[in-house]
Amino acid sequence: MNSLRQWWSLPVDYGWNVAYARSQQALHVTRILIGIFCWFYAAAAAIALTIPGLGDSGSARWALWFTVATTLPLGLAWLIGGWPSWPMSVAFVLYADIVLAAVLLTVDKPSEMLPMAALFTVMGSYVVGFHGPKLFTAHHLFAFVTVAALYTSAMVNDPERRLQTNLYLVMLILVMFSAPLICHSFLMLLRRDATGAFYDPLTGMQNRRGFDAAIGNLDLRSGADAELAAVVIDIDNFKAVNDRFGHEHGDTVIRLAASRILELFPTPAVTVRLGGEEFAIVCLAEVDTVIDRSEELRSRLSESTDRSPLTASIGVAHAIVDARGVAEDVDVLISRADRAMYRAKRIGGNRVAVYDDGEPSVHPVDERH
Ligand code: GH3
Ligand code: MG
Ligand code: MG
Repeated sequence: MNSLRQWWSLPVDYGWNVAYARSQQALHVTRILIGIFCWFYAAAAAIALTIPGLGDSGSARWALWFTVATTLPLGLAWLIGGWPSWPMSVAFVLYADIVLAAVLLTVDKPSEMLPMAALFTVMGSYVVGFHGPKLFTAHHLFAFVTVAALYTSAMVNDPERRLQTNLYLVMLILVMFSAPLICHSFLMLLRRDATGAFYDPLTGMQNRRGFDAAIGNLDLRSGADAELAAVVIDIDNFKAVNDRFGHEHGDTVIRLAASRILELFPTPAVTVRLGGEEFAIVCLAEVDTVIDRSEELRSRLSESTDRSPLTASIGVAHAIVDARGVAEDVDVLISRADRAMYRAKRIGGNRVAVYDDGEPSVHPVDERH
């Protein structure tokens, strides 16, 4: 009962699954495959319309025509559109389940249609791949009710095929429920651990790996230019804090710095602990706002009431970027912000430096020290 409750509330979300698939370059291929599978459905429904005796009733013809007319544009949307948001993805699952149930329950030969209910497994695998336990349960309950209705109809309307109907039912239960349940449970456990691998245990902030995944998920209006800024923060003379107050206190200081960074740069800004006492932020915002925030952060980090007041050097870099292919721009911006941060440090620390094109003092040659 306890493990059931744990499973139900596992904090694995759609956004993370999509970000992970994108970071592994798996999202594009999946989207194209789903588009093609939608067209397979359209083709199967179109073929069913031509088979005499299968879709003779008005409701069956209506359900089949509806399938053809909707899965064709839907397939196209998957092929040429972007990856859907969470509500759109849930709507897609609901739509596919309802359309499949409508076809199965309205065509004229329930005992022959029964094995076709295995098609619920196709949508089931999408749910296993991208959604959590709640949609998984809803989808399977819906599939179960549909199969029960189809089974009852087959037993009543086709008494001479009862043996076959019962054999189909056993097969369906195994294919539709047992295999996905095992896959889902294992995937959820693996994901729970994998989510941990994206975060830094000391601060709870994303580590470099989590950061890379999140960058791919920056909310960009496709095609439009966007103002992108990167900020790199390094605590000044941090070794002295460790030496004077001990490593444990050093850890507390790093945690405190991280929480102040997250306070001033909340999501959708992407934050990362690059390592040690070095952090970075990437956000879509006007550069003046980012510089003001960085200045505010600098003074928050050096709060005089802290047990070991510290200072930090902060570098800011910004650029107008094409919304597609932001990942490479982020790498360039981070290294520029890093150079600006070193400039701030070299001239005494406890300040914000901005990297600007054509500004000779941030040229790589000048940065060497
Ligand atoms: P600078 O002003 O040039 O930035 O000097 P610094 O001492 O801050 O920088 P440096 O990068 O040379 O040293 C960082 C130190 O941070 C070294 C390491 O012992 C300490 N450190 C790295 N990770 C951790 C950690 O997780 N906890 C603690 N307590 N210390 C850490
Ligand atoms: Mg330092
Ligand atoms: Mg450092």
